[in-house]
This record gives sequence, C-alpha cells and structure tokens, in this order.
Amino acid sequence: MQEILLGYQGEMSLKGLNKNQFEAMMMKTLRYRLKELGPFKIYCAQSTFYMEPQRDDIDMDEAYRRVSKVFGFAALSRSVVCDKDFTTICNTAEAYLGESLRNVKTFKVEAKRADKTYPMTSPELMRELGAFLLDKHNYLRVDVHEPQFKVIVEIRDHGAYLHGPKLPGEGGLPVGTSGRALNLLSGGIDSPVAAWRMARRGLALDHIHFASPPYTSERAKLKVQALAQLDSVYTGGCNLFVVPYTKPQEYIRDHAPNLLFTVLMRRSMMRIANQIAGKIGAEALITGESLAQVASQTMKALQCTDAAQDLPVLRPLIGMDKTEIIETARHIGTFETSILPYEDCCTIFTPPHPKIRPELEEIEAAEAAMPELIGLEAEAAAATERIRIRMGDETEFV
Ligand code: ATP
Ligand code: MG
Repeated sequence: MQEILLGYQGEMSLKGLNKNQFEAMMMKTLRYRLKELGPFKIYCAQSTFYMEPQRDDIDMDEAYRRVSKVFGFAALSRSVVCDKDFTTICNTAEAYLGESLRNVKTFKVEAKRADKTYPMTSPELMRELGAFLLDKHNYLRVDVHEPQFKVIVEIRDHGAYLHGPKLPGEGGLPVGTSGRALNLLSGGIDSPVAAWRMARRGLALDHIHFASPPYTSERAKLKVQALAQLDSVYTGGCNLFVVPYTKPQEYIRDHAPNLLFTVLMRRSMMRIANQIAGKIGAEALITGESLAQVASQTMKALQCTDAAQDLPVLRPLIGMDKTEIIETARHIGTFETSILPYEDCCTIFTPPHPKIRPELEEIEAAEAAMPELIGLEAEAAAATERIRIRMGDETEFV
C-alpha cells in the first residue's frame, strides 16, 4: 500500500485571480518541508494538494506531522493509492480503513470518478464497495446523511485513491502571501503566540529581541532563540535580530521620570524596531500586547507607543484573555519554554507603580530632556546581531 497525503485548501480557495500566487507559495513551502524526508511528487488539482512519496521507505507519519503545521489547509487526509481493479479497491479499503470502521456504527461510501472511462459508475462503486464493507463489518449501518465515518474512493487516471478521515488543518493562509513584518519577541508567553497568529494570516516575519547584558543573561537570549526556533515550524525560517539595548535603557533610567520609564522604553524599542524594519523591508511591527494586561498596555500607553514611529503596529492578541493566549501557546508548543524563569529587559528597572494613563505631551517633554537618546538608539541598531533561525523542530535549550 502506498500512502499519500492530501491537503485541502482553506480560505485561499476563495481567492480570485491571484489564487495562483497562493498556490505557488504553498507548493514552495510543501516542497521545502518535505524535501529532507525524501522525494515527493507534489501537485495541486481542484483546490487539493497531493503529496505522493516516490520511495517506499519515506516516514509518512513525520511527513504528515510537518505538513499539518503548514498554514493554508482547512483539512488534511491520508490516503492510499492502489490499482483500479474493483477487487483490489475492496481489499485495500478493508486493509487501510477496516480498523477505523471497527470503531464506528454508521458509515457511508463516497465515490468520485475523474477517469470517465472507468467501467463502473460512481453510484455503482458506492453501492458495491459499501456492500463489501458491510459484509466484513456486519454491525455497521449505512447513514447517507450523517455517517460517523466516510470511506472516499476516487478513481483517477493513474490509480484509485482511498481516503481516510479528514483531519483538521491549521487554517490561515500560506506564509509569505501577505507581506513581511518584524515581530518583537520577548522571552514571555505572548509574543511567540503573536508571531504565530500573524504568520497564520500569511505574513512572513523576522523577530527582534532587546537584550540588556549584564542585566539580562546569555541564557535569556538562548531562550528567546529557542522560542523563535519553536515558532519556525509554523512561520518558516527567519532572522532573529538581537539589539544590545543596555545603553539606551540605562540612559532612560538615569534621565527620565521614574513613573514614565516603561512607556519611554517601549517607545525607544519601537523606534529601533522601525530602523531594523526599514533595513529588511518589513512593512509592519508585531507585538504580543493585550489590552490592559499591564500598565504599558492601557489605551493611553498604547497610544503613546504607537506615536513613536510610523509603521503599523499589529497586535493580534489585543482582545485575547491570558487563558486563551496560554491555550494557543500550548497548542504551538512554546508554553513550556516561555515559562522558564529568565530575566527580560522589559522587567528590569521598572518602577513599582508606572503611570497607567500617560499623556503624549508629558512623554514628548521627557524625551526632549534626553537629547542623547536618539544617538544611543542608532548605535544600538547599528550593533544589532543577526541570528539565522532554520525552520525545524529541534531546540537545544533546556
Ligand atoms: P510577553 O509574554 O510576550 O513577554 P508581556 O505580557 O510580558 O508579554 P510586556 O513585557 O509588556 O508584556 O511586553 C509586551 C510586548 O512587548 C511583548 O509581547 C513583546 O512583543 C514586546 N517585548 C517585550 N520585551 C521585549 C524584548 N526584550 N524584546 C523584544 N520585544 C519585547
Ligand atoms: Mg514580556
């Protein structure tokens, strides 16, 4: 039995004239994700992607696992291809799907015939294959309206395809079809989820992280690197830009009113992120901010942060509760790493009671009293380290 994978397009199937671009991007991603496992023939027909291994020894569980994390599929299924001879179809259906049929009470056979020269019609195929399976599993009933299990047989030019049950995909759009953005990645729970959410809408992205050694450690940086690595299974390979942020941060600490420290620092980070974004052609910034989660995420504080620079700031978690964010972090596999206790530059020097409703005028006045800040930010941006994150699962961080 040769097993293949099928991916059913989600939202991209609704695209009009530019649908080809979405399919081409999807094809590129699938090729890249599968290439390490061995040769695959990949093609798209009628809003379905077919991924056929070209050797018998390819690990199809791993292939499925990888492909199921590619954005753009509403659902997936595994399928076997066999000879079109009816007896072979029956025996293959029983061998491949018999186990699943033992766990249900009702089923139905669906048949599609792309090869119109095939001697049996679709209704004949459904009836005859249904009868064969009923004979093997006499506790089963046919339910054409709401079956617990569907056996799908497709007769194509090169063989018969028998489908297993459809499994849910990640949804979204292929990464790279919506432009490029720069994600502000801390070591926390939220920002890896924010990156995942925007990549799901088709954004290609890189990450930027602010590190303040010696206040923040090398281990803290490795943790962020591990988070980018975990996210890359979904977002694709990317860059992690690490900004040496100690000097601007100390300067703000030493020259600004304590109460305004956090918002001033966040504006400063946004200005540096804007500079890096300009260099790499990113069209937006992404943060993991969620309304009212902390003092720097009130409406007033966000307004001040937004006014610091001119790129759109995407905040996909803005309306999410922490419990929902954690649920997603668990789903994508970043949660356990995020909760490891390492320091973040955002939490050093912070006053115990930051101002919750800062006014832009007072913020701008405070910045006017820090004439050297812009220069320090430019120096930090220029000294930024670039770390290449290869798409994959493996992370050495424990
Ligand atoms: P997270 O769980 O993502 O750390 P948080 O609730 O701790 O979020 P903050 O520390 O206020 O919130 O940070 C808000 C957002 O600012 C983060 O989601 C992230 O996008 C960005 N951010 C915070 N610290 C850093 C950092 N050191 N480097 C890059 N971005 C950061
Ligand atoms: Mg944080």
